[in-house]
Amino acid sequence: MKAAVLHNFKTPLALEDVARPVPGPDEVLVEVEACGVCHSDLHVADGDWPQLAKIVKKPLILGHEIAGRVVEKGEAVNDHQVGDRVGVPWIFSSCGECEMCREGNENLCGKQQITGVSVDGGYAEFVKAPARHATKIPDALSSVEAAPLFCAGVTVYRALKKGQLQPGQRLAVFGVGGLGHLAVQIGVGLGAEVIAIDVSEEKLAYAKSLGAAHTLNSTSVDVGKDFRKRGGAHAVLVTSAAKAAYDAAVPCVRPAGILLVVGLPADSLCFSPISMAGTEIRIQASAVGTRQDLREVLDMAAAGKVRCQVTSRPLADANAVLEDLRHGRIAGRVVLTPG
Ligand code: NAD
Ligand code: ZN
Ligand code: ZN
Repeated sequence: MKAAVLHNFKTPLALEDVARPVPGPDEVLVEVEACGVCHSDLHVADGDWPQLAKIVKKPLILGHEIAGRVVEKGEAVNDHQVGDRVGVPWIFSSCGECEMCREGNENLCGKQQITGVSVDGGYAEFVKAPARHATKIPDALSSVEAAPLFCAGVTVYRALKKGQLQPGQRLAVFGVGGLGHLAVQIGVGLGAEVIAIDVSEEKLAYAKSLGAAHTLNSTSVDVGKDFRKRGGAHAVLVTSAAKAAYDAAVPCVRPAGILLVVGLPADSLCFSPISMAGTEIRIQASAVGTRQDLREVLDMAAAGKVRCQVTSRPLADANAVLEDLRHGRIAGRVVLTPG
């Protein structure tokens, strides 16, 4: 099969013919119809995260926003049939037995395998996945529309659940990219007054069209000052991969408000204890989501409450798409369509 393969960090992917994976007894083989290109793929390919670099498989097929069709299944698989449409998320597998798994936080399982990181992902014609973690795609969604929900969608959905926003409260969304454009819509759906911040006028205009009440360009406006005038935001969600976004975001949190940590720049963040104590702001990180979160966001999309802006590109364009993402040139999400 054709696949885009990472051999070394910071080097372009090689488009190669590799062996088609063979599913084990409890796995399905999925013919990939669409695989989203997430900014996390860029972090992985660049070796940005020392914590994850250790578990990166080499050579590696990237891609963890996978939607496709089951074409083969192992003999122990009962709940998926050949022909079913399923998606494969970032969490390839979890142990099901540890404390985190038993407490319903499989996204925090210490024994998890990660799609497109520790095992091969979806920048390929086929991918195999444990049947337990392959999630059915509602008929109302095409594979192209559904793929980005398997990371971008589920991630912002879970993060905003943790934000516990009430209607009428102010939500700041930093970064209107793959994750952020979905967060704006979910925030509007929750009845929040959404203020979107980005460095691109085009993305801000797009956020407005999605229902953002206000937009701010952080390259030309003192965002913290603007927010102080508004009383700050009840929740500030950072979906940007830039540390500068966090630097601008922290002063926007209202006293007793919450900073939702989602974007994952390689640099560490630094907060002043005195200003945190003086405002009692909370810092809440969020990691992708569970299968339950995934089912909820898929249902929401099937009901038309959130829609991903998607552009399809052939698998052979994988390197060009990653470069576009690096330079902030992608609106919404690009999915690779290996077929
Ligand atoms: P993206 O490139 O599609 O979007 C990033 C957006 O941030 C772009 O619109 C860009 O213009 C904007 N931006 C850049 N600099 C900015 C600044 N200083 N202030 C405000 N906005 C700025 O990326 P994406 O695929 O949406 O991913 C975003 C981040 O989220 C990445 O770091 C990714 O690794 C991370 N992520 C985290 C999780 C998680 O579980 N926590 C899951 C998926 C992705
Ligand atoms: Zn576990
Ligand atoms: Zn992702």
